[in-house]
Amino acid sequence: MTSETKFSVLVSLFNWIQKTKTASKKRSKFRKFLDTFCDSNDYFSAVRLILPWLDRERGTYGLKESVLALCLIDALAMSRDSDDALRLINWRKGGARTGANAGNFPLVAAEVLQRRQGLTSAGLTIGDLNHLLDRLASCENRAEKTSLLSTLIKKTNAQEMKWIVMIILKDLKLGISEKSIFHEFHPDAEDLFNVTCDLKMVCEKLKDRSQRHKRQDIEIGKAVRPQLAMRVGDAAAAWKKLNGKEVVVECKFDGDRIQIHKNGTKIHYFSRNFLDHSEYEQAMSDIIAENVLVDRCILDGEILVWDKSLNRFAEFGSNQEIAKAVNDGLDSDRQLCYVAFDILYLGDTSVIHQSLKERHELLQKIVKPLKGRLEILVPNGGRNTHRPPGETCWSLIANNVVDVERFFKETIDNRDEGIVLKDLGSKWEPSDRSGKWLKLKPEYIRAGSDLDVLIIGGYYGSGRRGGEVAQFLCGLAECPSPNTYPRRFISFCRVGTGLSDDELDTLVLKMKPFLRKNEYPKKVPPSFYEVTNNSKERPDVWVDSPEKSVILSITSDIRTIRSEVFAAPYGLRFPRIDRVRYDKPWYECLDVQSFVELVQSSNGT
Ligand code: ATP
Repeated sequence: MTSETKFSVLVSLFNWIQKTKTASKKRSKFRKFLDTFCDSNDYFSAVRLILPWLDRERGTYGLKESVLALCLIDALAMSRDSDDALRLINWRKGGARTGANAGNFPLVAAEVLQRRQGLTSAGLTIGDLNHLLDRLASCENRAEKTSLLSTLIKKTNAQEMKWIVMIILKDLKLGISEKSIFHEFHPDAEDLFNVTCDLKMVCEKLKDRSQRHKRQDIEIGKAVRPQLAMRVGDAAAAWKKLNGKEVVVECKFDGDRIQIHKNGTKIHYFSRNFLDHSEYEQAMSDIIAENVLVDRCILDGEILVWDKSLNRFAEFGSNQEIAKAVNDGLDSDRQLCYVAFDILYLGDTSVIHQSLKERHELLQKIVKPLKGRLEILVPNGGRNTHRPPGETCWSLIANNVVDVERFFKETIDNRDEGIVLKDLGSKWEPSDRSGKWLKLKPEYIRAGSDLDVLIIGGYYGSGRRGGEVAQFLCGLAECPSPNTYPRRFISFCRVGTGLSDDELDTLVLKMKPFLRKNEYPKKVPPSFYEVTNNSKERPDVWVDSPEKSVILSITSDIRTIRSEVFAAPYGLRFPRIDRVRYDKPWYECLDVQSFVELVQSSNGT
């Protein structure tokens, strides 16, 4: 039985795969493990520990690094202010305490565990581990999780516990792709997983590698891995790629991808990671039950927040927040709206093999749109969609590249996320990103002018730069009144690349006297900075006053995104530091309004 195999055997496999360079050797070791240590009737017990992010048989643990750190500290009966406890809490930070492992939680945990656990394995089996992980997933509070972790610690050595931490965090960093593992397991494993998202079933059905599996179709109640879009640089490239095809261009909605599975009164909401989001039930299920006119179907689409007072989609709506408000019985101007852009299943049949054009016709037949609650995305859909008057429709057939460019420009003017181009003759393919759908986003600012931003905080690096500031949190000035210096700075982007090691060392040395630690548990920013509550905006150090800070120039093609993380209305993706402007005084930092104008004038040009 696989479950009787010692977990230490799996740990040896993990270590081996991790240190092996070539993909073929990694794969053959995995095969050998399956053949030697697993029972073909129970591959799942082991495979779920190798691909933990795909396992939906147990719930989530509710343990990200920060909570896991606190649970481990208590499970190991450590004082919260001991050096090792601080190592775990401040695992991202470097310095004498965390050492070279800064930034890698499992390694920091392994270092701490090594001092307490010893080397000998207590003989935990794969079955024991699965049983304990099941219990961990059903724990209701932190105390229960802590006690469960303490049981695990007693039954393992530090090596084993390090891998258990990685399994809990669902990231093994083995350097072998999920695709390779599937292919080595069985030639049909990936296909079957893509249409069922059910790892257990894949392991059970495909136990004989020499037996090919008949292609399985999708079914209601089992999430399907979503079709994805390939990125293209501009409208001309997109048009060329879809050369000769009948093309529809659609607005790229900025919400959450959700597959709705309707089976009579049972309605499921599967996310991209095939989690069933039952929190949408209360807000959406009546609408779906009444306005989706068939008993059984699967719809593909995006769930968003609709603002009733503005009569449009909310720019920074949070679906979870609205779902919670509905579940708590609170009234709001905002509500959830589902935009169905595809249909995958109807009645008793999968329709993914029909053309998109045919699927659009089906969508129109079976969905009755309801303004701001349920919309469908079909070409030139004025009849069926509720885009506010004066705005373009959300979807149209493009006859040439000029149509695409025009639609793209309108979308940008409307501050939407971008557009998606689809081949109307194509079928829907699970997990495909080969170019049947193309996405085009307004992300490039051709920055003729520099973006001069002020450093307001710093983040410690990992690896070689562990313990030293290696990235910066930068801010834009809040528009000052005429003839005054700015008083507040609004967090805007995190930037680390672009400088040479020497340039970075010089900058960090210059900034060091003015850096104030943003220590646990006090994480309040200085009053002259405005940040959101997002944890990504919690630098390890703050610059203790703007007057002492330095301006960084960020140039070249910079991609902008509407920012939900940082406090400024737009943020940058993958920014680079062009140079450090020691010559420029702090108060000449770019202000928010000028930046927004710059974004709007450069977008889509
Ligand atoms: P991005 O961050 O650009 O959304 P991604 O990796 O999340 O990228 P992609 O496959 O690249 O996803 O882009 C497709 C995603 O865009 C879908 O998963 C869906 O959430 C979203 N989307 C919004 N509007 C549409 C639309 N009209 N058609 C298809 N996908 C859409």
